[in-house]
Formats: sequence, structure tokens, C-alpha cells
Amino acid sequence: MTLLDDLAEDVLLSPAQLLAALAEHERRAAVLALAVRHVETAGLWAAEGAVSYASWLRDRGRMSAATASRWVRRGRTLDRFEPLAEGAVSGRLAEGQVDVVERLARPKYDELLSAQVSGLVDVIAPLSVADAHTVCAAWQAKADAVINEAEPPLEPIRDLSMGRDGGGSLLGRFVLPDDAATELEKAIRTASTWGGTDDDRSSGERSADALFDIAAFYNRNHDRAGTPRHRPHVGMSVDESTVREGAPVGVDDDTHFPHQSATTDTYLCDCVLHTILRDSYGTPVGFGRSRYIVPVRLFRQVAARDGGCRFPGCDRTVRYCDAHHIRYWRHHGTTEYDNLVLLCNRHHHLVHRQRLEVKLLPNGELHVTWPDGRHRVSRPHRVSRPDHPRPDRPPPDPQPSSADPPRVAAVT
Ligand SMILES: [Zn+2]
Ligand SMILES: [Zn+2]
Repeated sequence: MTLLDDLAEDVLLSPAQLLAALAEHERRAAVLALAVRHVETAGLWAAEGAVSYASWLRDRGRMSAATASRWVRRGRTLDRFEPLAEGAVSGRLAEGQVDVVERLARPKYDELLSAQVSGLVDVIAPLSVADAHTVCAAWQAKADAVINEAEPPLEPIRDLSMGRDGGGSLLGRFVLPDDAATELEKAIRTASTWGGTDDDRSSGERSADALFDIAAFYNRNHDRAGTPRHRPHVGMSVDESTVREGAPVGVDDDTHFPHQSATTDTYLCDCVLHTILRDSYGTPVGFGRSRYIVPVRLFRQVAARDGGCRFPGCDRTVRYCDAHHIRYWRHHGTTEYDNLVLLCNRHHHLVHRQRLEVKLLPNGELHVTWPDGRHRVSRPHRVSRPDHPRPDRPPPDPQPSSADPPRVAAVT
């Protein structure tokens, strides 16, 4: 007996019944959005001490910030534009169509949209979401022209919406005007790599990897001041006890979304560490010294040896690379020349995710072994010449004392 069997009377399995149930769900959601707006305007939520309605919803409704703001926005839009609310509540408009119109609900279109939303609803009601989008884009272009007194639209249509699914993957959609599209296409082409005949990634996977690289590269280098590779890029809090237990779970300081342990491990390899002192209730009471896991001087020495990503077949340059601890930092691997190797963003995450065994020989060869026994070797991109002797080993970077571990380490 599965849960689905238990709920068989509620879960209607024919395609037509499913579509009808989804439509009913959307109608109820529209009514609920109006109710959300009603509670907002009544203001009673403020008596509970919340600083904003969205924060009250987050707290009392146990919602993510994105979900709370989506409900608040939907409630305000439906309340403001009655023909849209009528379409949503009656089921004449599907949620996807309401989403499209909602993007027009901006202060500068307020007056024009109020006057024309009824006609707009009539036009898009029989259309697919894609066609509704085209119609609304055309409406927006005309509205811009009217607002700008027949001048061509100053602001092109652009939109980006994204959110995490239950598995942690980011899903989204975007609309970019021609100039932004050209830049993005060029950046994806530039950042895409192909590792030869062994590279069996699809073109979509290569583009996704390129986008990951672009984001990581920007986050490391967005501030021109200082040493580019060590500018803050991802702020993360890690409970030190989970590091000791071998499955470190970091929480993104911006989104509060937990990282998988392989992701946490990757960031811990080469980051800036801040010690945050907490009292017995877990409240921060002070901040200790910040330090680089891999000091800049040591990174440069490793870079001089490796010349770029050392993953076999990869030709990513030093600017794209992290220093990876061959013996993990949390396994008491030292931050020393012989225990570090450069890996590009993609291959650094891959090594941690696939738990590859990496071995660096004194002659500079790097041996990479997969859990299924596959084995590949890479050599430094630039062989040290006699006039560039192997650098002296720098003094070991001080490791956190096990006798006095930080309760929480934040990585930036
Ligand atoms: Zn690493
Ligand atoms: Zn690489």
C-alpha cells in the first residue's frame, strides 16, 4: 500500500482529470493570493512584531524568502488589477498567463495598464504562455513609446527569474535584449572547453559548465582592488563539528541554502577563513583573525609549477584556478607546496564530487585515479627551467588548533 493508493480518491490519474485538478489548484491559489493581500492591508500581522509582511510570512508561514515575496507580489497585483484577478479566480487565465502579465505590474506602467488590462486579458486568455509573452512584450514596447512621448523604448525588455528545486539545482528562465544576448553568447563560447575525444559532455552540459565558470570567475574578480583571485566570492558558514565528522555542510551566507558536502569541501580547499566566536547559545560574540587558507605567495609558487589546471587534458589558465589540497585540509592535509595542485573551477568541483584520488609525484606528474580504477596522468604546463628553480618551501600555514576549534568558520 503506497501513499498514492491511500490518497487515490484525491489523486485523479487520467490526463484530463489531472489538468482539471491543476486548473482548480490555480484558481484556489488566486483566491489565496487575494487573501494574502487582504491580511496585508488589514495590518494585523504587524502586531506580532515582524518588520515586514514578507518576513512575517517567512517566519509564520515557514516560507523561503522567494516564496514569501512571490505571494506578496501576486496578492498586490491581483488586488490592483481587477480584470486580471477575475481571470485568475474564474480559471479563464492559467497561472502561467498571470505570471506574464504580472511582469508588467511596475510603477511606470501602472496608469496605462490599469486602463488597458481588461483588453489585454481578453487577448491573451486563449493564447499559450509563449504567445502571451509575445503579446505582453509588444504591449510593453508600445507602452514605453507612449511613456517616452513617442521616443523609441529606452529600456529593452529583460527579465531573469530563478529558484532552487528540492534537489538544490537552480532552475530559471531569462529574456535578454540583443546586446546582452551577444555578450552572454560570446562569454559562453569563450568559457566553453572541450577536453578532446574523452570529453563526452553534451553541448548543453558544456554550456552549463561554462556558465558556472563565468559566475565563479566574476565572483573572484569583480573587484579590481587587491589580488583578484582572493576577492571574496562565496560567503559560507560551516559548523566545525560537521567538518570533524567528515561530512562538512556549509550554509550559503546570502541565501541560507545548505551546500552539499562536496561543494563545501571544494570551497574549504582555497578560501578566506574567518573565525566567529559564539557563546553557549550560538550567538556570535566576536570575530577572530581572517586568513587565507592558501597564502597568495604560496599560490604563486604552485602556479609557477603547474601553469594552469592540472586535470588531465585541461588547458584552463591560472586565473581560472583554485589551489586544491591533495590530502584534504580537513584530513589534516598541510597547506604546503607538495600538497597543493591547481585545478580549474569545473575540475576542482569534479574532483571533490567524484572523490577522485590525486597523487603528485616529485617529478611534477599528477596521477588521477577514478573510483572505478580508471587512471590518467598530467604534466605541468610549463616545466621549470634551471633559471626558475623549484621554490623553497614556505613555512607551513598555521592550521586551526584542534584544542580550540572555531564553532563556525565562514568562508569567503
Ligand atoms: Zn579541493
Ligand atoms: Zn580544468
